[in-house]
Amino acid sequence: MAVLPKKDVVIIGYGAGAGPVSTELALAGYDVVVLERGPYRTTAEDFAKGALDTLRWNTRGEFLPPLQDVPLTFRTDLNQEAVPTNYIMANTVGGASVHWSGQSWRFYVEDFRVKTTLEQLYGPEKLEYLREDGANIQDWPISYEDVEPYYEKVEYYIGVGGWPGNIQGQIRPVNPDDGNPYEAPRQRDYPFRPLRDNATDLTFREGALKLGLKPFHVPTAITTEPWTSGYGVQRAACTYCTFCTSFGCWNGSKSSSLVALLPVAEATGNFEIRPNSHVLRINHTGDRAVSVEYIDLVTGEVHIQPGEIFILGAYTFQNVRLLLYSGITSNGLVGKYFINRAGPSVSAIFEDRYLNGYNGPAVQRQGVDDFNGENNAEEKLQLPDDQFFVRGAFIGSPSQRTPLETYNAVPPDVPRWGAEYKRYLSDNLNRYIGLQLLAEPIPYETSYIDLDPNYTDRFGVPAARVQRQVKQNEIRMARYIFEKGKAILEAAGAAKVWGRDTPVASATMTHDCGGLRMGHDPSMSVTNRYCQMWQVPNIFVTGGALFPTMSGHNPTETIWMLSFWLADAIKDNKVNIYNSEDFRS
Ligand SMILES: Cc1cc2nc3c(=O)[nH]c(=O)nc-3n(C[C@H](O)[C@H](O)[C@H](O)COP(=O)(O)OP(=O)(O)OC[C@H]3O[C@@H](n4cnc5c(N)ncnc54)[C@H](O)[C@@H]3O)c2cc1C
Ligand code: SF4
Repeated sequence: MAVLPKKDVVIIGYGAGAGPVSTELALAGYDVVVLERGPYRTTAEDFAKGALDTLRWNTRGEFLPPLQDVPLTFRTDLNQEAVPTNYIMANTVGGASVHWSGQSWRFYVEDFRVKTTLEQLYGPEKLEYLREDGANIQDWPISYEDVEPYYEKVEYYIGVGGWPGNIQGQIRPVNPDDGNPYEAPRQRDYPFRPLRDNATDLTFREGALKLGLKPFHVPTAITTEPWTSGYGVQRAACTYCTFCTSFGCWNGSKSSSLVALLPVAEATGNFEIRPNSHVLRINHTGDRAVSVEYIDLVTGEVHIQPGEIFILGAYTFQNVRLLLYSGITSNGLVGKYFINRAGPSVSAIFEDRYLNGYNGPAVQRQGVDDFNGENNAEEKLQLPDDQFFVRGAFIGSPSQRTPLETYNAVPPDVPRWGAEYKRYLSDNLNRYIGLQLLAEPIPYETSYIDLDPNYTDRFGVPAARVQRQVKQNEIRMARYIFEKGKAILEAAGAAKVWGRDTPVASATMTHDCGGLRMGHDPSMSVTNRYCQMWQVPNIFVTGGALFPTMSGHNPTETIWMLSFWLADAIKDNKVNIYNSEDFRS
């Protein structure tokens, strides 16, 4: 087992979260090494040559790790044994930011203070059912105002386009060339515009407007024009090729840590990425990490990499698993308050038009936020007590309806095999719309990640085990959001609408957050406001595991934002790597 030369910064995993902090620290002169278990795939060699291969990237999931390397188990009943389940995030240099969709949001002002917002709006009596279900909702230790410049940095340095809805407090009117009127105030417009509409989006927009809602173009981390980032990285305009989610972009247009950040870090000369390096454990002395142990997946050799600062960037499950396996538990808080989505679904067929959903990437979409967060608080207050719920969902109109991916676009009364199935699909594929309903989950005492006592990976490390249950709030929210989605499609003229108005829990659905939540109080949280572990002050965390609460929006822009925020905290000496309670606000 070779002990390698010590580095200033050792980063475990290179996905969305690791990208900004590693680039910024390398630019500031730190000696940075990244250990990434996936291979180094590139746009030119892998994605351009393998473009449009749905079977390879989507159906067979070439990005995904073998289950015996990265096992995950799941249960909804705490008295039952967990069973192995699929892991759906890419293991590759760039992580899931390479095969993601690119829907890219800032969180709302109130998303950072959900506890306070709910208490002010509804009072303890209305919220009693949440307490009975074991909800544990905490405000974030940072405010939107603290991090607004870092959101802007994501948009201008990584690349996010959109129409603004609120510039410096001025709400924009609802018209096709404006954004989400509910969004948090931004200081500056986006650097470029979002994707154009197709017939799916215009149909959704028509239905939403008929109901008096406020539809808008969804902001996307896809360059829609030739664009040069704040770092000087040149990017080509999206060609609307459609083979987007689950694929690496062959054109370099989809923003990722791979295309937007890695070239900048590598050009510094003091940044090294070691692909095929699977980290097994963090060696520490209780309150100080000293090295990590990793296996080279090509040679099978095990190495020790010492360092001064350690940064976790291995996604929620592996970040938690590594800490627990290394004996770092933060008094039992590591792994707690896991949050991922469990929502309803709504689909429809339109007999009077083609929707061209095959024409454009998944995130080419219109959406509404009228039922998201507490935007509809007044309406919710009118609901009977047994239907009342908190938080909400974004509703949008995805595309990327490639035939292999849209095999299940059939209503319940149509068979799922044989001649009738084929005939139905061939007649209706281009008339199909399936909504995205991003229901916000609540953190509960009984939703957590720990080490599975029965399953290990091929290196002998226990699998991450996820326990996740659906509670009253999600059941009530799902029914409500299902009805709203259905109403939009019916107002737009759908011939037939179907779906599921009940939530279904799963271990992973790509927005897997919580588990290492940040907070003000070391007895209630794992990290401080600068993503620094209270227990081991030279370990920092990136990724959605930091989130104390979720949002009705996708998480990645906030993950990137927190990583820029963390980089500044280290560079500007706001944190003390020997004492996590000694930080400057
Ligand atoms: C199909 C799909 C579509 C998505 N669409 C959107 C979207 O539209 N909008 C949005 O906001 N989010 C979306 N997401 C979610 C988004 O990809 C994640 O939020 C984001 O990538 C998480 O960042 P991360 O750095 O925490 O983890 P990742 O990006 O998953 O990176 C973690 C990296 O760590 C590596 N790693 C793991 N374990 C080890 C180990 N032991 N040693 C070394 N390396 C390790 C992995 O190989 C991986 O490369 C999508 C995800 C998927 C899969
Ligand atoms: S649709 Fe655009 S962003 Fe997506 S893979 Fe094609 S060119 Fe890239």
